[in-house]
Amino acid sequence: MQVGFIGLGSMGSAMALNLVKAGHDVRAWNRSMVAQDSIPGVTLVEHAADAFKADAVFTMLSDDPAIREVILDAGLLANARPGLTHVVTSTISIAFARELELLHEEAGIGYVSAPVLGRPNVAASGQLNILAAGKSDAVAAIEPLLAPLSKKVWRLGENPARANAAKLACNMMIAMAIEAMAEGVVLTESVGLNRADFFELILGTLFSGRAYESYSAQITERSFEPGFKAKLALKDMRLATEAGNEIGRTLPMLDAVREGLSRAVSAGLGEKDWSIMADMTVRGRDSVVSSENDLEKN
Ligand code: NAP
Repeated sequence: MQVGFIGLGSMGSAMALNLVKAGHDVRAWNRSMVAQDSIPGVTLVEHAADAFKADAVFTMLSDDPAIREVILDAGLLANARPGLTHVVTSTISIAFARELELLHEEAGIGYVSAPVLGRPNVAASGQLNILAAGKSDAVAAIEPLLAPLSKKVWRLGENPARANAAKLACNMMIAMAIEAMAEGVVLTESVGLNRADFFELILGTLFSGRAYESYSAQITERSFEPGFKAKLALKDMRLATEAGNEIGRTLPMLDAVREGLSRAVSAGLGEKDWSIMADMTVRGRDSVVSSENDLEKN
């Protein structure tokens, strides 16, 4: 198939490459220059509009404003190839997913919300979990394209916003797990229990899940190369908060992790992995690492 791809960041470049490996003709656009040898087989196009001249187009930009600017403000929907299906794999707000659904319907093109679970290394190995929702004919049209990207496609119904709500809920719960582990370390290290031994205990007994496994390793090693950038995680916590506000609910644990990530980003650590939040909790909020240099010295 002819596939457009918009956004060749950490996730997008890995996904575009897997589409090429599966035999698709991929034309991709990115705002800044991308070295061709990092994405062999992907054809780079000059304008985002060129990526919409395809059977399907994926968008993996960072957030709502980026998608609004690159796709809506530039009028790409009005000029899309008839019959095209647009798959938005970015983590976006529920309200924006509803708006996109409506605008695509008006433009007569298919729309699927398909946010993903898995970090760039998982995307590179084609093992993402994809949360897909949209009209069944639109989802069916792009399912062959989701297969080389994923371990499993979770079909969540015809309402695209369901996929976005599920993705925000997942990230909110991972952030809570990161903070929970950090607070456990605060208590146990205070009596001299080694961090790695504590994690071995909780992984082998109460918390054997994937989020606990991968983020306990990062907290133990104090390894915070992204992964998933703290600034994008903060974006997701804000989107989850807005979604709660829309239905008149405050979520206290969400407030706590949003504030933790906000402190990390304000301390200049937005480009680090979001598990940096745990490091700040463990070290004490008043002795927070205040810059990247500081982090490297410690
Ligand atoms: P990233 O590496 O920071 O890439 C962001 C992409 O968005 C880049 O292509 C960037 O272009 C583009 N972009 C940002 N603002 C733009 C604008 N105003 N106009 C045009 N292009 C713009 O982020 P990522 O980690 O790939 O994440 C992408 C999306 O996937 C996000 O919604 C994120 O929440 C979600 N996600 C990430 C992970 C993860 O572990 N990383 C996992 C699941 C989902 P430039 O290259 O020019 O900056």
